[in-house]
Amino acid sequence: PCTDFDVAYFHSYAHLGIHEEMIKDRVRTEAYRNAIFRHQDRIEGKVVVDVGCGTGILSIFCAQAGARRVYAVDASDIAVQANEVVKANNLTDTITVLHGRVEDVEIDEEVDVIVSEWMGYMLLYESMLGSVITARDRWLKPGGLILPSYAKLYMAPVSHPCRYSESVDFWQNVYGIDMSVMMPLAKQCAFEEPSVELISGEHVLTWPHLVKNVDCSTVTIHELECVTTKFKFTSMMRAPFHGFAFWFDVEFGAPAMSDYDCIQQSASVETTDGRVTESSQRKKRSNPNETLVLSTAPEEAPTHWQQTIVYFYDPIDVEQDQLIEGSLTLSQSKENPRFMNIHLEYASNGRFFVKESVMR
Ligand code: SAH
Repeated sequence: PCTDFDVAYFHSYAHLGIHEEMIKDRVRTEAYRNAIFRHQDRIEGKVVVDVGCGTGILSIFCAQAGARRVYAVDASDIAVQANEVVKANNLTDTITVLHGRVEDVEIDEEVDVIVSEWMGYMLLYESMLGSVITARDRWLKPGGLILPSYAKLYMAPVSHPCRYSESVDFWQNVYGIDMSVMMPLAKQCAFEEPSVELISGEHVLTWPHLVKNVDCSTVTIHELECVTTKFKFTSMMRAPFHGFAFWFDVEFGAPAMSDYDCIQQSASVETTDGRVTESSQRKKRSNPNETLVLSTAPEEAPTHWQQTIVYFYDPIDVEQDQLIEGSLTLSQSKENPRFMNIHLEYASNGRFFVKESVMR
């Protein structure tokens, strides 16, 4: 059933600004366009469903790649504009815009391809992947193509001293006035909720941990309700540890060898300020079969997803080679299924911590 949460959610996609931001994200949009043309042999003469077509851009790429028919589905009122765009580009013979939820609209044939841009912050926020699964189970032919085909969510411990100090230490001296009594409140305001921001490879303390590997052709809705994982990190440097960063990548077509599957030992380098920067030396993906990857990792070109950081209220000082272990659980919020609960338990050097936060 379509809930009030859905109504609010689809309403947010009726604003053009959000589509403008996505389309202007060239890393994102060009990855999709390249993926569609790379799979032209699977699209030409075939039937495609675009799950959440927005302005219709991906449907039009598919039409350009020779699709026989594209069903462009969106529940948001942006579908009205998508229909206008299709008409203005003389594509009404190929693209059919359906203004409704993929859960509700009717398509009277099986389809060869599903294309969708469903990824939210931290990959799973917004939980739109469930709608792609629904579309797959309703219409996709056995062995049909789903773009993207795989998605991977990663996490890693990070050190970000200037971010901490601009939010917290700032209150120590405000125009010469000691406002440090404000610091507990400042920590709460700044770090209670996950923060979407750009970090760089240098902030990352060590190799990431794979939280969830999604195969879009087999994943189930049930499997996404609660994602849980145990992690173990070895810090590559001595640094204040401020929180965990999350990012994802998606692959179009056959699975790529991950960046992090083919790590070779690299020598650590001591910088002038004494920090050992090894994480910044992490090697680029060796991708022999040239699978197309859209990555939102800190060492890659920035995207509108940036990275998501769960900061602690207080940093933990870690030594080089110090172990950080624990567990993470991501679950749908009871308050609103589009929200995500993030439950973190972690221990280092005999101290144990819990951090609970909600992505709203
Ligand atoms: N494909 C476009 C827009 C991606 S944004 C592009 O790449 O630019 C995701 C879109 O999916 C939004 O417009 C949203 O309204 C739509 N959407 C999300 N869940 C949906 C569902 N269950 N049924 C139909 N549309 C959905």
